Amino acid sequence: MDSITDKIWHHLDANAALQTLSTDSEKGLDTFEVQHRAKEFGPNAITRRRGKTRLERLMLQFHQPLIYILIAAGVITAALGEPVDSLVIIGVVLVNAVVGYMQEAKAAGALEALAQSMVTEATVLRAGTARRISAVELVPGDLVVLRSGDKTPADLRLVSVKNLQVDESALTGESLPVEKGEKTLPPETLLADRRNMAYASTLVTYGQAVGVVISTGDRTEIGRISSMVSQADELATPLTRKIESFSRTLLWAILGLAALTFLTGVLRGESAAEMFMAAVALAVGAIPEGLPAAVTVILAMGVSRMAARGAIIRKLPAVETLGGATVICSDKTGTLTQNQMTVTEILAGGRIRSLTGSGYDPAGRVKDMDAPDEALRETLLAGLLCNDARIEAGEAGTLVMGDPTEAALLVAAAKAGLDREEMSGRLPRLDTLPFESRHQYMATLHSRGPEAPPVVYFKGSAEVVLERATRLMNPEGTLSPPDIGRIRAEAERMASRGLRVLAMARKELPAGTRAVDHADVASDLVFLGLQGMIDPPRPEAVAAVQTFHRAGVRVKMITGDHALTAAAIGSQLGLGGSSCSASETCRVLTGMDMAEMADAELVARATETAVFARVAPDQKLRLVMALQSLGNVVAMTGDGVNDAPALKQADIGVAMGLGGTEAAKEASDMVLTDDNFTTIEAAVEEGRGVYDNLLKFIVWTLPTNVGEGLIILVAVLMGTALPILPVQILWINMTTAGCLGLTLAFEPREPGLMDRPPRRVDHPILDRELIIRIILVGTILLLAAFGLYEWELLATGDEAQARTLAVNVFVMVEAFYLFNSRSFTRSPLALGFAGNPWLLGGVALMMALQAMFTYVPAMNAMFHSAPVTLTSWVKAAAVGLVAFLVMEFKKKMRIGAGPAAKDHPA
Ligand code: ADP
Ligand code: MG
Repeated sequence: MDSITDKIWHHLDANAALQTLSTDSEKGLDTFEVQHRAKEFGPNAITRRRGKTRLERLMLQFHQPLIYILIAAGVITAALGEPVDSLVIIGVVLVNAVVGYMQEAKAAGALEALAQSMVTEATVLRAGTARRISAVELVPGDLVVLRSGDKTPADLRLVSVKNLQVDESALTGESLPVEKGEKTLPPETLLADRRNMAYASTLVTYGQAVGVVISTGDRTEIGRISSMVSQADELATPLTRKIESFSRTLLWAILGLAALTFLTGVLRGESAAEMFMAAVALAVGAIPEGLPAAVTVILAMGVSRMAARGAIIRKLPAVETLGGATVICSDKTGTLTQNQMTVTEILAGGRIRSLTGSGYDPAGRVKDMDAPDEALRETLLAGLLCNDARIEAGEAGTLVMGDPTEAALLVAAAKAGLDREEMSGRLPRLDTLPFESRHQYMATLHSRGPEAPPVVYFKGSAEVVLERATRLMNPEGTLSPPDIGRIRAEAERMASRGLRVLAMARKELPAGTRAVDHADVASDLVFLGLQGMIDPPRPEAVAAVQTFHRAGVRVKMITGDHALTAAAIGSQLGLGGSSCSASETCRVLTGMDMAEMADAELVARATETAVFARVAPDQKLRLVMALQSLGNVVAMTGDGVNDAPALKQADIGVAMGLGGTEAAKEASDMVLTDDNFTTIEAAVEEGRGVYDNLLKFIVWTLPTNVGEGLIILVAVLMGTALPILPVQILWINMTTAGCLGLTLAFEPREPGLMDRPPRRVDHPILDRELIIRIILVGTILLLAAFGLYEWELLATGDEAQARTLAVNVFVMVEAFYLFNSRSFTRSPLALGFAGNPWLLGGVALMMALQAMFTYVPAMNAMFHSAPVTLTSWVKAAAVGLVAFLVMEFKKKMRIGAGPAAKDHPA
């Protein structure tokens, strides 16, 4: 075993590879050997190397234009003979860096925890049985079964291959899938051409194979690469980028203004030192430096809230996109429906029989089984044998493993007394063509003894089977030409009642055949019968559809199922609102219709249609693009490997956590842990809440910057002393953002969030209404702080006391305005405080800090503050109260209400 690292695996033939690893080609490794090797080789996981070390992350906090300005200011202040000011500035720079670092670490940590909670699964053959395990548990020598949609879990030497195609772009950058085989290759073959190997992290796009694990974890090819390439930390979203570029533009404007201020003052004969301090104060005050970090933290909190409700965000931008979603395209089966299927009707031998019982409980029977019916028996047998599902009796009731559609067929067979063990012993399976949505069928080849010709059991959609059937089985077991028209009519009758219909067929292949291909089952099938199963809508999905409609989000159902089944389920779900209610059937667009349409026509029809049936996965892509061309923000669900392009194209690609393939998860922005449609509703609701809280924070924080900038500008222009000093501005910005602003992130979702239309993507972050609010509060700050400063100065003649009052005005107004900012439309009194206990705690802490700022001698020395009288506090508080009342009045009047009025109706 110690020699496995230096083997040239693609140059060994498959048997030699198995031998080297002491793996049994039929059974895989035994349990004991697995334990032993797990100890020797460790878990099959790639050691995550952080892109940046902690120190680098901390240092990066200093790499911001404003920090450079502050450091320069600190140095110059020291040179001007103000060591205390200089130390305070440098102190603030340090505290700021540490806070920024901690916020970022928290956000990154939240995302990382989620990334790790997503485990890749693999099918492994151990001690003769196939099991689905977490890929982390694989060891060298394990036999792994690959199927389309799987992510290759480790580096494998392929042992047997059937039409395998693998997308190796993660490893080689080549985007076209590569065809694989088993043949031994020359030693010098390059990685990208090693057809007999499958490498970890590549995706199986087609076919099946079995391979033996040759290396795991860091010893895989991808593991070796990722130790060289650093991990990018994706914390940026369109919104944070917008804010960052806005701040950068602002930065230059403000720096220009600061320089101008400096020059004006100096030209008017003021001292250069004082004017320099004014310019620094202006820059520090007016630049919203804390904004990008706060936005990231609020988004990261949204990620954890969504995770708690079953929606795992894989890409941070999705948090913000979700709130603006205008169309949700959802799979039907399992997402909108319960996925608890029960066969209720069987057509075979010219008779329709119903079944009793419900769910996966085998108690129940097939009615009217008076006389033996060979067609019925074969129909049930096809469902039983052409089947990969398993039902296990667990402690928490029955447990379905695999496709629920197939589980229903197992139960139906059991109700007729067919035993799976016995039948698969008599007719052992030789080969499989697994179900794929785009083919709409599955086929299995079974041996009937060494001499007899083997038989293929085939099941799939009625259309596919009827197209290929040339004969029909009678109750006596004889064959005759089928009445295709009648069978089709029966299938449609079942479908129009919402039943999911599967047709069963069989075909003999020449003796000696051991494998089945798609060409073998393209014609000459013997039609056996139809099985119709119910799959009722989830009751909670009906409610979710209604909520979405109220929220201005259209829901479209996309399914591979029959148009009539889809229409019936669509009506039960209330899709299409009043135009297709429970009494009327929904208008349906089928994949065939879509194929015949030009893009322009599809765009028009896609908008008005709510139900899409017999849609092939690649048509989902076209549909997403058609909807997007009208400016829609589209969420699209998917589970199969062929859904990946549509998931990538959608604004929010949603993959199924339970039933989805690794390929779909990889392509998605969000994964549903419970595959439930209502979880999408929850995520959209959280998304809207997060965006709201972001806006609330921005609208709360910007007036301070406006007020601080203006007050310095006005003071310089009027030639008076600065009402607040640079260190005081630093104090305000640092303490209020942390104590007050961030508590808005804990603001609960407002009721009525889902009663308003989605935010429009082309709508600016700050519309007229919000800009007016910002300017209004900024002006109140300017007038009150400046006015009270001058008044206090006249009254006491003490500059320090007057400045302390001005600072108190800023803090008080921000504290009061925080309560306005809790809602854009509702009165804070109506909101109550139970929902956000942080808020009152934050305000209390802020007041305590402000008392220290005012009364603690050390603080007085550092910040040039001084104790003030009670009257002075009352004045500051009065201004706060006035600002609060003005803003509440503004809310009520909606003066200058622009487009925001539509976005936030009362
Ligand atoms: P959806 O998941 O959107 O309901 P599918 O693509 O899974 O649709 O199924 C399309 C059709 O293929 C079904 O109507 C059914 O007739 C058939 N089908 C579904 N599952 C299987 C299966 N496991 N084996 C064979 N045929 C199936
Ligand atoms: Mg399906």
